[in-house]
Amino acid sequence: MNRFQTDMHNNLRLAVDSLQGISEKSKMDLETWIKEIISLKYQMETLADQKGYSINCKRSIPICKGECCKWHYPRNLTHVDFFIAIFNMGEEQKALLSKKILGAKYDHCPMLLKTGCFLSFEQRPVLCTNAYPCFSDHSYWIEKEKKNILFKKAFDCILKIKFISD
Ligand code: SF4
Ligand code: SF4
Repeated sequence: MNRFQTDMHNNLRLAVDSLQGISEKSKMDLETWIKEIISLKYQMETLADQKGYSINCKRSIPICKGECCKWHYPRNLTHVDFFIAIFNMGEEQKALLSKKILGAKYDHCPMLLKTGCFLSFEQRPVLCTNAYPCFSDHSYWIEKEKKNILFKKAFDCILKIKFISD
């Protein structure tokens, strides 16, 4: 097993453990920030859509077969990334995700399926919002840089609520 697979799996386990016995108050606060992250991701996706990236990407997938997720995927996802990804995930899907990470045989993202990403758009790591490497222009990246400040604020709040003050 690759080093990054081990790290990913350890971080997934840490995230799963962190969800155990979480108080209702913390859960509500965390949900607010996770919703903020999802909303920011949708804003970036809307921009990508307006610029025509989404449709060009969709049309290219039969040929590129998700090349970006093979070579540019995030190898350094933290337990917070996984915590956000699994926050609203069912037990069966969590077990499947664990199996996918441990069982990945190729040097590409363990969450990449033949049909696309194992995770839904909402659950996808923020780092995967660095999407459309084939098409993105300067203005898209400038907008992403601006959003990164807001992403970081939401991540910091999640860390504070669950992983620092707990
Ligand atoms: S998590 Fe999903 S979107 Fe991100 S690199 Fe892996 S397969 Fe691609
Ligand atoms: S961004 Fe490029 S490599 Fe990635 S799925 Fe779209 S067309 Fe393929």
